[in-house]
Amino acid sequence: MGADRRVAIGLDLGGSKIAAGLVAADGVVIEHSVRGTPAAEGPIAVLDALVSAAVNLIDAARLIGAAVEGVGVASAGIVNPGSGRVAAVTDALPGWSEIPVVSRLSASVGIPVVLINDVHAMAIGEGAFGAGRDVSDVLYLAVGTGIGGAIARDGVVLEGSHGAAGDVGHVVVDIAATAPLCGCGRRGHLEAYVSGPSLARTYEERVDSADVNLDLRTIADRASSGDADAASVLSQGGTLLGRVIGGLTNLLDPDLVVFGGGLLALGPLFWPFFEDALGEEVRAPNAVPRCEPALLGNEAALVGAAMLALRSSD
Ligand SMILES: [Zn+2]
Repeated sequence: MGADRRVAIGLDLGGSKIAAGLVAADGVVIEHSVRGTPAAEGPIAVLDALVSAAVNLIDAARLIGAAVEGVGVASAGIVNPGSGRVAAVTDALPGWSEIPVVSRLSASVGIPVVLINDVHAMAIGEGAFGAGRDVSDVLYLAVGTGIGGAIARDGVVLEGSHGAAGDVGHVVVDIAATAPLCGCGRRGHLEAYVSGPSLARTYEERVDSADVNLDLRTIADRASSGDADAASVLSQGGTLLGRVIGGLTNLLDPDLVVFGGGLLALGPLFWPFFEDALGEEVRAPNAVPRCEPALLGNEAALVGAAMLALRSSD
């Protein structure tokens, strides 16, 4: 390894943690670190955490004789290409849309910075080195604390006119005035039903639980132990997600749907119901897409962000 090996830094900013990686042009993650996101301390603290993560990896690159070509930041929220900031973000990162991320971060670390939506970055990473390799039309979904999406063809992510394409979590699935509130402030969106926190809230309401902050793992354990309420919340979530992705399949006709995020861990409590509903909803004969987990797992977005940084420096 030396100066001839091209490297960039990928930073994956979520509401609860920042994953950082020093990534080579062949997709290999040379160094990796994870730290908590200081979201509650405000956007300047979040920016400082990104700077610190990047500086540590620039130092790590120097130790192996490599010069970092750029930093790619994958952020939750809608990223308008060229603006250098996140245009709209859910309440997981309060104040984050006020920060000119690209100019502030590049001034602090002294190398070029690019900014991209986190699931768009996941699509670039998986398209280059993961489940989306050699597949033409792919729908990417990250289903965890929120729901994000990306639409890609031949490895190129569809940005839309404002960088907002693929925002599956904010599709309306319930028009009732009493529909649950979404993290974006509207009601009845998919994310208000099928994200981890939404499933937990639905369970708490159903059992009128005195427990607070039940997490998805606990609900899954209860479902596995015979709690019928827990099992039905998860199966209904799977069915709803399957119906929505079936509708999107009718719109986009992908070859493959790639999933990332914490809901993968639900296994047979959730996914068979998803697959049944998906199969029922798709209209074109033989058009039910294959569904696979992200091959790069939690590193897909940071690898994709680093690839975007390398491409931007070509
Ligand atoms: Zn929403």
